[in-house]
Amino acid sequence: MFTRQQAAALDEADSLAGFRERFVHTDPELIYLDGNSLGRLPRETIDRIQAATVEEWGGGLVGSWRTTWMSRPAEIAAELAPLIGADPDEVLLTDQTSVNLYKLAVAALTYQVPRSTVLTDSGNFPSDVYVLSGVAARAGGSVRMVDVDPVAPSTKAIEAALDAQVGLVSLSHVNFKSGALLDMRSINRAAQSAAALTLWDLSHSVGAVPVDLHGTGADLAVGCTYKYLNGGPGAPAFLYVRRGLQHDLTQPIQGWWGQDRMFDFRLEYRPAAGIARFATGTIPILSLTGAGTGIGITAEAGISAIRTKGVALTSMIVDLFDAHLLEFGFALGSPRDAELRGSHVSLRHPDGYRIAQAMIDDGVVPDFRAPDVVRLGAAPLYTRFVDVWDAIDRLRDIMESGRFRDYSDQRSGVT
Ligand SMILES: *Cc1c(COP(=O)(O)O)cnc(C)c1O
Repeated sequence: MFTRQQAAALDEADSLAGFRERFVHTDPELIYLDGNSLGRLPRETIDRIQAATVEEWGGGLVGSWRTTWMSRPAEIAAELAPLIGADPDEVLLTDQTSVNLYKLAVAALTYQVPRSTVLTDSGNFPSDVYVLSGVAARAGGSVRMVDVDPVAPSTKAIEAALDAQVGLVSLSHVNFKSGALLDMRSINRAAQSAAALTLWDLSHSVGAVPVDLHGTGADLAVGCTYKYLNGGPGAPAFLYVRRGLQHDLTQPIQGWWGQDRMFDFRLEYRPAAGIARFATGTIPILSLTGAGTGIGITAEAGISAIRTKGVALTSMIVDLFDAHLLEFGFALGSPRDAELRGSHVSLRHPDGYRIAQAMIDDGVVPDFRAPDVVRLGAAPLYTRFVDVWDAIDRLRDIMESGRFRDYSDQRSGVT
């Protein structure tokens, strides 16, 4: 079984080890295993947002739109595009993931009239299901929910639910609870032969798992920048529309940023050519600037090195779990095969909430997802192998001593 020395040796040999110092560690003792919910703050982001505030806004005032802000979204999109297997002119940074999902789902169903069923699975992120249900209902249809095992979701069951009513298939690439990865290629192929469009949520894959939207034939995608991309709380999300489809789709929130020649100020709306037509209003420049540094660091490290380390980290969690935690009534809530999961591991336990509280007091930050999931996120850019080792060691101690029983199981607002 893994010893702490072996974990330290893996850190010594880690080609990404240097990236850890690129992030702020206010408490160097803290073990942060929640980068899958909110990524750490890159040091560079402090200076960039400072410059965007003081120099660009304070000094440059409105002239900064012309000199630098107007072109910033496209520059950042160009860095993001290779991380998801897209071309720069297929990616737009804007709005939140939920809003982008809404815009693209409406665009897809409008294009697909009279097909008004949206196919999704029971492992999808609830916010996505809320958005999709609203969109389908307005189109006179509904969501068709395929019940899947969250740990071993069946691609076949999803494909078997396709028929001539389905206009759109919308799924999360990596399941937010279990971390299970869906087979994007097979699902895209099946959807295409059923003449349905695909819309992927990449929130838990981008920056952790290589994504190949082009290569797998995806039509549409959305994702957020504040998880593995370390863009900062509420930083703008992104959307992707396959180039060949851009001209055929129109989105429902028509605003001046999506208007052809926006500064002509004509009263009739004419959508811009290309990806710009999926924009609506003014981009939040300060938070976009933060997203830019987070994406830049990820691009610099390279997604294949990030994935290799992510697989090693989560595999170590699973090995240590088998050796030290099984006896305490935990069940593994994630796929055992590293190729089939993203960069977090879920441990299920009836006392999960109290256990997560005890871990936080012991200097380890996981998160909790109702009803019984403790999520351990291993963000490869700043998580060390010894962090994982120490986290499981402390968790074992919490279980052995029964200390988690000192905590209330009444959940507070944010978990
Ligand atoms: C985190 C997350 C989101 C975030 O949505 P916002 O609208 O940006 O708050 C969306 N979808 C999934 C699958 C997520 O994990």
